[in-house]
Amino acid sequence: MFDNLSARLDSVFKKLKGHGKLTEKNIEEGLKEVRMALLEADVHYKVAKNFIASVKTRALGQEVMRSLTPGQQVVKIVNDELTALMGSQNESLNLSGPKPVSVMLVGLQGSGKTTTTGKLAVSLRKEGKKPYLVPADVYRPAAIEQLRTLGEQLDVPVYPSDGDMDPVEICRKARIAAQKAGCDTLLLDTAGRLHIDEALMDELVRIRDEVQPSEILLVADAMTGQDAVNIAESFDKALDIGGVVLSKMDGDARGGAALSIKSITGKPIKFIGVGEKLNQLEPFHPDRLASSILGMGDVLTLIEKAQSVIDEEKAVELEKKLRKSQFSLEDFRDQMVQIRKMGSLKDLLGMIPGMSKVKQFKNMEVDENELVRIEAIINSMTPKERTNHAIINGSRRKRIARGSGTRVQDVNRLLKNYTQVMKMIKKLNKGGMRGFGRGMLP
Ligand code: GDP
Repeated sequence: MFDNLSARLDSVFKKLKGHGKLTEKNIEEGLKEVRMALLEADVHYKVAKNFIASVKTRALGQEVMRSLTPGQQVVKIVNDELTALMGSQNESLNLSGPKPVSVMLVGLQGSGKTTTTGKLAVSLRKEGKKPYLVPADVYRPAAIEQLRTLGEQLDVPVYPSDGDMDPVEICRKARIAAQKAGCDTLLLDTAGRLHIDEALMDELVRIRDEVQPSEILLVADAMTGQDAVNIAESFDKALDIGGVVLSKMDGDARGGAALSIKSITGKPIKFIGVGEKLNQLEPFHPDRLASSILGMGDVLTLIEKAQSVIDEEKAVELEKKLRKSQFSLEDFRDQMVQIRKMGSLKDLLGMIPGMSKVKQFKNMEVDENELVRIEAIINSMTPKERTNHAIINGSRRKRIARGSGTRVQDVNRLLKNYTQVMKMIKKLNKGGMRGFGRGMLP
């Protein structure tokens, strides 16, 4: 996500930071490059233009804060403005109204609607809600089947829609069935087309008028860039949507849709899809994304993820260890087991400030077998060795390799990687990265 934009902004800021004092001229030059970077990221030209204008007004009009250098000040202003551009705060699902409430998911075919319906069921259930899935796409028989399979997989009830039924009727009857089943939140997976057409919009309006959903979410594919923005505009005009789920953000290196939707449509992005798996839906946090674009690392998201799978006490203990850089191989192994519960290691590392710039991690593809190997290696060490890896000499490395069914090279590599991570942690601790360490986990 946002790789190119991040790199471009990074180089603009490096130049700006080189000046002790910023003049109107160097600010203007810097902003010209920021504007180019935004356009290259496929940000709507009007959005880019307004963005630059507000950054410029603030940069020129403001007293430089004593704690910041002029260059840092510009970074801060860009950070604030990027956050504002994306909607400032996370906006959650609107689930108000008489129970059961309905969330209507709309969008073009292939945008990720059905997958998102499943993902939302997972996240609602985590919040203690009782979701009920409603397949309302009667034109594509496979769509009904797809949601039914998802329901079975998740053990969430699904309305037994039939391809011959009228979609409005399905949604109406599903509400009664959900109530009977003791469910409180209906997720309506409506029909999609390849292009926006009137018949589709008419049907969606009829469903909306019948069901009176508390939330209408448009699912749009981030990889389509400005098309996603146009689609959001059209659906909003016809249906007055409540928000957007931007799917496939994991495959979108540019980020234009994420940066333009709020400002063009006035409607917030509420969630982003970051993978095909059902736990890969994240609340959209403009502030965190802005700092991640500026290379500050998405620490808060990382902490939130970590906290959802790791118990508090352990987290506090680990935080202390991390702060004192006493993170042993044993902790490393325990964490690896936890991390595997959280998702891809590469994604997690990318959220740690500075990590994305560490060469070794840049193109790191984590192979699950590798994780199993690492675990076996650490298990073959003595407790003493796990707390003090420096005592592991050549002959012990051989023994450990044999004990874990791996090769000496594997043991060497693990120890090298571990030392590198420790160095990184030490550096970050010293640098006093804001937020780092608070519940931070490797
Ligand atoms: P629908 O036609 O709108 O219901 O779309 P589907 O839910 O069937 O999704 C279309 C394709 O996009 C499927 O292959 C999904 O696995 C994939 N997909 C959906 N969301 C995401 C996402 O956030 N990331 C990635 N990488 N793929 C996704």
